[in-house]
Amino acid sequence: MVNLDKISFSKAHHILHTLEMCMISHEQWFERINRNLIKKQPFALQFTDKEAYNKCRMGGFLRTLEDDLLGSDIYEDIIFLHKRVHFTARAITQVKVSEYNKIYELYDELINQRNAMKWIVLILENQLKNNIVQVDPLTGLMNRQKMETTLQRIRGGEESDSIVCIADVDHFKKVNDTYGHTVGDLVLINIANLMKSNLRPADTIFRYGGEEFVLSITAPKNKVFKIVDNLRKIIAKSVTNTMDGQEIKVTASFGITFMDREISVTDNLSNADKALYHSKESGRNRVTQYEDIV
Ligand code: GH3
Ligand code: MG
Ligand code: MG
Repeated sequence: MVNLDKISFSKAHHILHTLEMCMISHEQWFERINRNLIKKQPFALQFTDKEAYNKCRMGGFLRTLEDDLLGSDIYEDIIFLHKRVHFTARAITQVKVSEYNKIYELYDELINQRNAMKWIVLILENQLKNNIVQVDPLTGLMNRQKMETTLQRIRGGEESDSIVCIADVDHFKKVNDTYGHTVGDLVLINIANLMKSNLRPADTIFRYGGEEFVLSITAPKNKVFKIVDNLRKIIAKSVTNTMDGQEIKVTASFGITFMDREISVTDNLSNADKALYHSKESGRNRVTQYEDIV
């Protein structure tokens, strides 16, 4: 089953572009059938063919989306309506001159089906655009906006052992100052990838701001510190290779707190931030648990 929320930033872009091509092709097709009708010329094969929905340009574009969307209700709806548009168009081509009035009825049907198809495409486009605005384009992580809603959901949820963690790259300004902003970006991408590949899929990672990340991890309370400390070690060991062959090493500091459902998300984040501040003050490249410092 396709989960549209999980479609990546670049895939969402690709699908949006393809949908745009679908609708351009459809408009051109619609223009052609209108011309054909007005001129009362014999209908071309592209309207009379039983398989026209498969052979038209829009059909071609829709097929390229199969890998990403097959199985999602909204994609099935678009395919279905596209087919119906073609079937109605074909019915129009088969009306005898003596029954020309029937064409008006069918034309209305065609317009309704085509409008329904356009609406469904628009809904899909809006869902994908929503994905895009919630994703940080540099790292592909979810952004701060998405973080707010996700943490609210987790706070109101059932899972008992949830932690909020803020990670901040140490002396990151120095990386930018020494190697330039582009290399700084590469370091951030590397760290985001390390986080993605070393946490479990159920855990969520957000880009909080510049070189700060928020992690939401579900694990038994006694395991959490170790999980985050492992991530810290992995980051400290890893190197980012620049285009000109330099190897850059950075560390990060972490502040964690058990999600407290009695207080707001903002207050939970603020507690994690206090723990992070403690990590920075006591030498960086370390993990501090908020509950240990209060
Ligand atoms: P600390 O160990 O105390 O966290 O020091 P720091 O240098 O990491 O912290 P500071 O807040 O002084 O600097 C953060 C730097 O992160 C400054 C800013 O230019 C840089 N930064 C923020 N966003 C981006 C980004 O998207 N790309 C790059 N390359 N740099 C960024
Ligand atoms: Mg910072
Ligand atoms: Mg920093």
